[in-house]
This record gives sequence, C-alpha cells and structure tokens, in this order.
Amino acid sequence: MINVIIVPAFQDNYLWLFHRQGSDAAYAVDPGEAAPIEQALRKHRLQLAGILITHHHADHIGGVNALLQQRDIPVYGPLSSKIPAVSRPLADGDLLTLDGGEISFRVLAVPGHTLEHIAYFNPDEHLLFCGDTLFAAGCGRMFEGNPVQMQNSLQKLADLPADTTVYCAHEYTLANLKFALQVEQNNPALLARQQEAQRLRAANQPTVPSRLSLELATNPFLRVTQRAVIEAASAYNGRPVDSPAEVFAALRRWKDNF
Ligand SMILES: [Zn+2]
Repeated sequence: MINVIIVPAFQDNYLWLFHRQGSDAAYAVDPGEAAPIEQALRKHRLQLAGILITHHHADHIGGVNALLQQRDIPVYGPLSSKIPAVSRPLADGDLLTLDGGEISFRVLAVPGHTLEHIAYFNPDEHLLFCGDTLFAAGCGRMFEGNPVQMQNSLQKLADLPADTTVYCAHEYTLANLKFALQVEQNNPALLARQQEAQRLRAANQPTVPSRLSLELATNPFLRVTQRAVIEAASAYNGRPVDSPAEVFAALRRWKDNF
C-alpha cells in the first residue's frame, strides 16, 4: 500500500511525498521547494529515493537542485530543455517502476498548461499526480497549449477509473467552486462540495486530494458535454458552442476573466 504525505509549500502549493507502507524509500512529486520536503523526510524517517516532475514551472522544480546536493538519485520527468535536472526522461505511455519494482506509474502526456506536461497514474491503487492540469473543481491555465490539446488532456484524466484519488498541486478549490457555481447554479453536488470545502478551509485543512468521481460530478472543465454547462458557456461566449474543445475554450476564457 502506498502512503502519500501532503507537504504544503509557498502560499498555496502542495508538494507530495509517497512511499510504500513499511519501506523508507520515498519519492517527491514536484518539489518546488526543498526545505519542506527535507522536513517531512525527517519527520517521517524516510530517505529520498527519487523525484518525479510534471512540468517545468519554477514552483514545481525549484527545490530539485538543493535536494540533489547530498544525494545521487534519479529525477523522472518530461524531456524538456527547461528541466535540465531530469535524468530519466519519460514519454506518454511509459511505465515507470520505482522502489525495486514494487510501485509503478503509467505516464500520461497532458499538454495544455505547458506543452511538455505529464501526469503519473498508479494503476494498482488508482492514484493520480496531475500537477497543474486538473485541479479540485478546476483546471490549470492554458499557458502553452491550445483548447483542443488541453481538453483532450483533461478527457484523458476523466477516463481514468472513477475511484482514482487526484493529487493536484494547488489549494485553489474555493475559488474554483465559486466559478463552477456561476456555470452550474443548480448542481446539488456542487453546492454540497462548496459546503464541505468551506468547512475544511475554516479548519485550516486541505481540500485535496479529491476523488475523480467528485470531479466528474462538479468540475465544469470535465463537464463540457453536460447541457447546463454547454448553455452557460454559449451564453458567456455570445454564440452557441457545442464541441467539447469549444465549450472548454469558452469556460477557460470565462474563468481567466472571472
Ligand atoms: Zn504550472
């Protein structure tokens, strides 16, 4: 069984550490900062055995060099000139095996937020590390890709098993839910989720990880084929949109200006 540890960093980032129950070999996902990772390793008596990167933004790779200073460990990530620290480049469909073959991840190319962005899916326990592609009740901004690419990437994640646990990289949930409720005022699952997220944040608790089934029921960016979402996107757009990519593009523009 894989144990996943949440490591808050910066203002609203979440870094992740995971290890097999009973094994002290730990892996860091997107260590934007080294100090909180080192602290978590000490606290949980773990040894850093490798680093997984999803994309090149500084808040996802900023701590890598410091973590490598005293260690000779592999850095997995997309092949990108912007991430020179990657020693084991990965591509769509690759199977990454860790901890002596005991943990495996399927690599999914998810371009859109950045062009080289990848996600890591564990097929045994249905865990997903998705960086800045899918957020709780939202998705990342489209910095490098186009709407067709990003919507395809989100669909790829939406097609994973519904019981998948989604480990995203930011605490943006309340703001995302506010926007989602503009899109779908009458979605009861969304109203219930907002209440739960407000309760968690009031208690200073993270709202992530989330479940893919909850995202499918509440995340407008995964609901681009729902009639209410298509109608809201069309109204914002000022003319009808119907293809998933067009609906997604209208929602993303709307959210960027929200
Ligand atoms: Zn990013």
